[in-house]
Formats: sequence, C-alpha cells, structure tokens
Amino acid sequence: MSVAFIEGGFMSKGKKWVALVLAVALVLAVALTGCASKTDTGTSDTTGNTTKTVTLKTIEPGKLLVGSDTAFPPFESMNGNVAEGFDVDLMKAIGEKLGLEVTFKTEIFDTLIPTLKAGGKFDVIASGMTIKPDRQLEIDFSDPYYDSNQSLVMKKGTTYTGPEQLSGKKVGVQSGTTGEAWAKENVTGATLVPFKNATDAFAALQAGNVDAVVNDLPVSTELLKDDDRGLAIVAQIPTGEQYGFGVSKDNPDLTAAINKALAEIKSDGTYNDIYQKWFGILPE
Ligand code: GLN
Repeated sequence: MSVAFIEGGFMSKGKKWVALVLAVALVLAVALTGCASKTDTGTSDTTGNTTKTVTLKTIEPGKLLVGSDTAFPPFESMNGNVAEGFDVDLMKAIGEKLGLEVTFKTEIFDTLIPTLKAGGKFDVIASGMTIKPDRQLEIDFSDPYYDSNQSLVMKKGTTYTGPEQLSGKKVGVQSGTTGEAWAKENVTGATLVPFKNATDAFAALQAGNVDAVVNDLPVSTELLKDDDRGLAIVAQIPTGEQYGFGVSKDNPDLTAAINKALAEIKSDGTYNDIYQKWFGILPE
C-alpha cells in the first residue's frame, strides 16, 4: 500500500481539512485491507519488513476444484460418491494450508489437460499424472510428489520373456497415458486397445478380451492385491516417472502456492502420514 505523506509543519485551515480527510481515508483503507486479507486464500511471504499477500485465483472463491480420473487406486477412487486416495488426501492437506475447500470432479484422464486449459471447470489436476515434457508445453506442474514406474499385467502363470512376446497380441492401455506411450514405443506387431480407465482395462483382461495390460505399477499392485482376479504383474517396467499436480499456465501463483504447501506438508510429517495410510509403508 502506498501512503501519501503530508509535508510541512504548519498547515492552513484548508490544508488541515485535506489532512483529516486523507487520514480518515488511510484508516479506512487499512481497516478494509485487514478485512480482505481474512478471506484471502493466498500465501504470505515475509521478506524483511514487507509482507506480500498473494490472493489466489480460483474458479469458485474459497474453493479448489480438482479434476481427476477417479478410477486409479490407491491415488484416487470413488467410495460411493466420495473421492478417496493418496492424491485426494494430499490435495485436502494442501487445500487446508491454502484455506481452500477441496472438491474432486471425475473426468476421463485423456480430457484432463484440454479441459484444464479451456478453463472454468477445475483449477488443478490431481490424477497420478506423470510430469512429461510434451505435457509441460500445455500446462504447468507442481514439484513432483510421487515416483512411479510401469507394469505389464497378464493372466496368472504367464512367463514374460520380453516385448516380442506381445507381437500379434492385444495389449490394453489407458488412452493418453504414459503406459500407452511405452507400448507404442516398445511393442511391435501388437494391437493396442485403448480404454478410458485402468479398471476397464483390467476387466477386459480378466474377461479375455485383451492379452495384456500396460499400467502404472502402484495401481496394478493395488488392483491385484486381493489376488482373486487370476491376473498377475509379469514385469515391472522401470520408466522412472514422477507424478505432479497440473495447473493452468495462466495461474502461476496457484502453482507456487501448491509447491509451498507441498513442501510444508513434507516437512511437518503430514505427507508421510498420508503415504503410510495408502501404501502401508513410509516413503524411501
Ligand atoms: N501416470 C500415467 C500418466 O500420467 C497414468 C495416469 C492415470 O492413468 N491416471 O499418463
């Protein structure tokens, strides 16, 4: 806030009036700013004497709308009509730090980036989304929050010898994912069958409509943990991926605020608690 100084020791009657009006205006301005900052959903950076408050721009004031393919456990899945999972809890913890109420909205994975870019539907993507250079041309990503790899899933008892084994076979992938990209690059002579989400791809594998599925390793591990589907992870594919939260390039303040909140929940132990809750172990 800039404050105009009234110069001079002695003032005429007129000048005194001006001074009084300015003083009242100043008191009002301070009071109003004080009120506004209470509903500010921003972050404060204290550098020396100046405190800069950034008001976060979100679609609905006080809320953080999150776009997510909620069929990707343990990162996000629907329990009735309530979203739950590692990403959901992380986003809620971040929302708490930012003073924003978090609401998840289900979207097909493939449409998340174009919908975020178009604007108006959600402020952030939290969907086990891998940070990738081609995606970074479209949207910004937060700092990485989870390390991941790919997996190949086939009928239990299958011995996998390498990608050539898939030649002439039907390989299920989730549209627009890094698993699909891996299959396109590494599997020749197979028919890639796209699915809208991971659970549909697994159902097709179980039904014998495809011969294999390429999918993020932690999600395959989770989906097969009950071991009653007759399916198994036959290969781990070390792609060295990292997940990040996606934000519009028009909203860099939100990305910065999410990064700051993420760093805070990492250092105060909240991240570890959430990790342990969903993965049963602490991060390495
Ligand atoms: N991590 C993968 C990707 O970003 C898959 C994400 C997902 O299916 N939700 O492409």
